[in-house]
Amino acid sequence: MTKQTKNERRCSFCGRAESEVQLMLTGLDGNICDQCVEMANNVVQTELKPTKDFTLKGDQLPKPTEIKNFLDQYVIGQHEAKKYLSVAVYNHYKRITQPKSAEDVEIEKSNIILVGATGTGKTLLARTIAKKLHVPFTIVDATVLTEAGYVGEDIESILTRLLQVADYDVKAAERGIVFIDELDKIARKGDNPSITRDVSGEGVQQGLLKLLEGSVINVPPQGGRKHPDQKMIAVNTQNILFICGGAFDGIEKKIAQRLNTHVVGFDAVHEQNVVDRNNLLQYITPQDLKSFGLIPEIIGRLPILTYLNPLDKQALRLILTEPKNSIVKQYTKLFAMDDVVLKIDESVLDYIVEKAIEYKLGARGLRSIAETIMMDAMYEIPSSEVKELHVTLEYAQEKLNRSQVKIA
Ligand code: ADP
Repeated sequence: MTKQTKNERRCSFCGRAESEVQLMLTGLDGNICDQCVEMANNVVQTELKPTKDFTLKGDQLPKPTEIKNFLDQYVIGQHEAKKYLSVAVYNHYKRITQPKSAEDVEIEKSNIILVGATGTGKTLLARTIAKKLHVPFTIVDATVLTEAGYVGEDIESILTRLLQVADYDVKAAERGIVFIDELDKIARKGDNPSITRDVSGEGVQQGLLKLLEGSVINVPPQGGRKHPDQKMIAVNTQNILFICGGAFDGIEKKIAQRLNTHVVGFDAVHEQNVVDRNNLLQYITPQDLKSFGLIPEIIGRLPILTYLNPLDKQALRLILTEPKNSIVKQYTKLFAMDDVVLKIDESVLDYIVEKAIEYKLGARGLRSIAETIMMDAMYEIPSSEVKELHVTLEYAQEKLNRSQVKIA
């Protein structure tokens, strides 16, 4: 142990002597040791941490057209879904800001379900809308939910995430928005002749129903079963807006069946309503969700049903350049940070779209294909003298053909 001398300086906060600490700072009227500085710093950080502002002011209420315009900046097409979402979110705002009075008309919650093939922008829509909102927002995947007792997360874990996003401000969480992705994965497989037990089907839907219809749920603040003794937080889900999304693979068949049975024999109807077989999702009704395996109670709690269109060549081409943070704009920025001017030929963009369609990767594939083309340049250029990169069709084809990387 270090020996103390009589006239040593002492920390005015903890009393430790200079010889007991690594560093002692002296001020006008006292001293402070390095350990107390660190502790004080932690206290300051915690106390001054900016708290998230979830207060809603009347004049901040974005109008549906405003919300849609905002979505247009990031998401290509999908106008129907954007419109439905904008109205639902706007009404949600109104609902949670309305003054409570007994005689008043009570505005009911309108949870939403978005149906569309994978990679058409469901999650992107939800994420983008979250940017515009001043309410806690979280995305959860329905596939991780299973009934209590089975491996997986409990339904309550959805609310744990919302609480965490809201910094455990229960009042804020109770007005938040939850996006539940892959809802189709918990559909009942009742029509399926398989004898395997339907672990992730109806039971989970029943659990979810409790959340959707609005009830007080005891939520483990840290989630999971790792902390069996933790104190629960009661969260009322009555004002939480749920947006569900799912690909519902194969639902087109159910829609087609329904349309056929309706149309057969009615020539007049046939002529008026020509069915667009390439995009059957636009005719989706709650009945189709039921045939797919969602229980009627869940469907009843998701009164707003809308769809996303498949992305065609033209849409994919626009996705490359048009959104505010489009892939091309991102690469341009990345190179500009190294003072490199990036020029990509139009033919390269067409080529990327063609390949994405060929590999059946949709919008999700655009990025991985672009990444494969740009990789060598991103690796070499920062440590070279090159100040301009011109990506031609030959360059792109060569990079993609040579690539051993499996594009997925
Ligand atoms: P989903 O949730 O429908 O499976 P995502 O929203 O996750 O699909 O889309 C995957 C990626 O594809 C997004 O991150 C985005 O880059 C791109 N993308 C998909 N659809 C669109 C669209 N309509 N507009 C712009 N980009 C899109």
